[in-house]
Amino acid sequence: MPHIPPSDKALVPFVSVENMMKLVHHIGIEPMLRGLADYIEQDFRRWDLFDKTPRVASHSAEGVIELMPTSDGEVYGFKYVNGHPRNTSAGLQTVTAFGLLANVGNGYPVLLSEMTVLTALRTAATSAMVAKYLAPKGADTMAMIGNGAQSEFQSLAMKAICGLKSVRLWDVDPAATRKAAHNLKGLGLDVHLCSSAEDAMEGAHIITTCTADKQFATILTDNMIGTGVHINAIGGDCPGKTELAPGVLHRADIFVEYPEQTRIEGEIQQLAPDHPVTQMWEVINGSKPGRSSAGQITLFDSVGFAIEDFSALRYVRDHIGGTDLYLELDLLADPDDPRDLFGMLCRAAP
Ligand code: NAD
Repeated sequence: MPHIPPSDKALVPFVSVENMMKLVHHIGIEPMLRGLADYIEQDFRRWDLFDKTPRVASHSAEGVIELMPTSDGEVYGFKYVNGHPRNTSAGLQTVTAFGLLANVGNGYPVLLSEMTVLTALRTAATSAMVAKYLAPKGADTMAMIGNGAQSEFQSLAMKAICGLKSVRLWDVDPAATRKAAHNLKGLGLDVHLCSSAEDAMEGAHIITTCTADKQFATILTDNMIGTGVHINAIGGDCPGKTELAPGVLHRADIFVEYPEQTRIEGEIQQLAPDHPVTQMWEVINGSKPGRSSAGQITLFDSVGFAIEDFSALRYVRDHIGGTDLYLELDLLADPDDPRDLFGMLCRAAP
């Protein structure tokens, strides 16, 4: 359980946005991305141990609010996350999140954390962990389509974990591309600002789509995709929200996190319910092949799965001990006599 100093009272460590940012800089962005990828990979290797369910989604015209629970039998975790593509025009994030870990033995929470920054890191770490298995050998150039909140994280994770050298940015909003280029300056990647999606794909071995729109969009059409590339499709992650033309899906070998959830939310919602897909945990444990030929088009149909959030929270729990990067929350009632909850309330009367 947590490497956090015991306290007399049942206080719950809480990592705020401010402390999460400090933790990332304390560890270093790239080391933290590598560490998160390792934790996610470890948890994918013990896939069978986990309780798994598609996330519980509450849809509205504006977006979606989701709960993502899982447990490995010892620790339980969940994330609350939203997706509201029009938020940015009101100065709000498209995606915000927080999450919790609890001890399965007694049900007590052991960590509460912001997960907006952490989700961007874990999504990027997952993309790169998957690309390590699926991207063509020597892949060093990525087209980054959609230059919003996730994009720099995606680019840096591919650098830290897969050896990416060059990123080609494209967004329908030139201000987003300028922002991403500015943020990536001096971080060790060659950054190119492109004039179209086609331009961005020039010479790219990895193509990441990370756009936000609550509709069946067509960011990539069949004629744009050459042989041998790896597509990392992040943005299509809700019913009715996709990024790739069906023709691309039919030419690719498709890899997913948890098929029961991806068939509802991912690019493959456009395909027959029995269209063959490979689960990434099977590739990682060696029971199914990843990339099997140079000319193959591999597609990671990423939607984000609860185990990745569990791994990310586990990583945070293991790295805040010995730091002052958390607050202790009085979240749990703790009467001296566990059955005297009412007495505790009465004794607190003014
Ligand atoms: P964001 O709103 O900050 O950025 C999205 C960007 O896409 C914007 O800059 C927008 O201008 C651009 N865009 C929209 N349509 C485009 C098009 N046709 N061509 C090029 N660019 C286009 O959103 P974000 O936080 O970066 O998230 C992006 C997407 O990723 C969202 O749909 C979100 O739900 C999804 N997401 C997925 C995961 C996952 O695990 N798979 C995790 C986090 C976010």
